[in-house]
Amino acid sequence: MKKKSFVPLLVAASLTLGIPAAYAKETHTPAAQSQQAFDNKIVKRIKVENIYRDITILSSEPRVAGTESEWNAVQYIEAKFASNGYKTDIQPFTFESYQAPNVGVTVADTSVSSDSITYTPNGEASGELVYVRLGTAADFEGKDLTGKIALIKRGDISFSEKVLNASAAGASAVLIFNNSPGALSGTLGAPNNDFVPAIALSQADGEKLAADLEAGQAISATVSVTGGGIQEKTSHNVVAVKEPSQQKKATNQIVIVGAHHDSVPGAPGANDDASGVGVSLELARVMSNMPTDTELRFVTFGAEELGLLGSYAYVDSLSQDERDRVVGMFQMDMVGSRDAGELVMFTVDGQKNIVTDLSAAAGVRTGTPLTYGQEGRSDHVPFHYAGIPAALFIHDPVEPWYHTPEDSIDKISKEKLHETAEIVGAAVYHIVRPDTPALEKAKVAPKPVEYEKVVGGLQ
Ligand SMILES: [Zn+2]
Repeated sequence: MKKKSFVPLLVAASLTLGIPAAYAKETHTPAAQSQQAFDNKIVKRIKVENIYRDITILSSEPRVAGTESEWNAVQYIEAKFASNGYKTDIQPFTFESYQAPNVGVTVADTSVSSDSITYTPNGEASGELVYVRLGTAADFEGKDLTGKIALIKRGDISFSEKVLNASAAGASAVLIFNNSPGALSGTLGAPNNDFVPAIALSQADGEKLAADLEAGQAISATVSVTGGGIQEKTSHNVVAVKEPSQQKKATNQIVIVGAHHDSVPGAPGANDDASGVGVSLELARVMSNMPTDTELRFVTFGAEELGLLGSYAYVDSLSQDERDRVVGMFQMDMVGSRDAGELVMFTVDGQKNIVTDLSAAAGVRTGTPLTYGQEGRSDHVPFHYAGIPAALFIHDPVEPWYHTPEDSIDKISKEKLHETAEIVGAAVYHIVRPDTPALEKAKVAPKPVEYEKVVGGLQ
């Protein structure tokens, strides 16, 4: 799941739900019993050990978008889908990524500890240090820094203004020191050809240099910034397709099951989202030999953590005809943590749709009543904006290990994986199996079950 861009103020309502009395009666009717017989064709074949093994393999290292480890995961996933008879495709897409540079500062032959400033240009410079206080236009007035290095204190104006003022005064590089203890993590906001190399120093080192310069000492310095900049990288989606096995009855409709295979840096991503990928691979295996009248697609997305880049690329690649034919998209993201809350379905607009209706009904039949709520932050979002009914399946609240090195296989609950696989498997099979008519011709959903809305979005 993608990072939260805001802090929610509301508190989730209680997620405890009973089975509605009206439905409990319904489960004993012949129709409901035959529905459960159909579910059993899927749920009795799910082997949670397969899911757990795939998560173990995928979470052996972080799978950051655009890296070799993500590519290794892509090849593993593609091979597994292919081994179950799916027609597979690896879909590449590019994105721009900022690479932090290596920086070095030497003052009077002694190395000083320093940090990079985002969007500094690369370059090397040597020269006399000049202290120009806060680096405002007024501080530079009447000063020619040609061939010199500006020493500037943090504060009052932005880092980029300080660097541009120094550059305009002829400085060949800039050292900006902190105005409080601790590391300075600065950015120039965006690349600019007028910048000169800029490096951050600690408050202690900067104050010392400033004091020595103000006392009249001549100090020379050498700075170097290497290897930084914006690079184009390539990530990939894995697409696996099962055409309808019963072509004569084919509905011309498509159902998509999704998850993302990338992780954030440093996190093995066992739950986020090797769990969703593992459940997808097992459902693909279980569905592979089932008779179907509807096209079934499993898609694992790259670069979800960088802003849903893979799912946007995939939806962009669909023709309008294909978009019109997709009747539902089931996104599983973080569906196996023992330390997270209950399984909840989230839609972008907070409204129920065919995906949540079918899954809530399946949840009642498999013994896990579901709630729903409003949340984006995963790969169901681009599908929603393309007019496709879509929902995110996730445990709410999320576990404390989210986006940390602790998101590892030992925190994964087989029960939670199993529960998610049963619900999504039963709901998807409800659509793709040959004896249910196409969705636009009949209400495929069984008698609607009641399911409640959680308040406040994902916690
Ligand atoms: Zn995430």
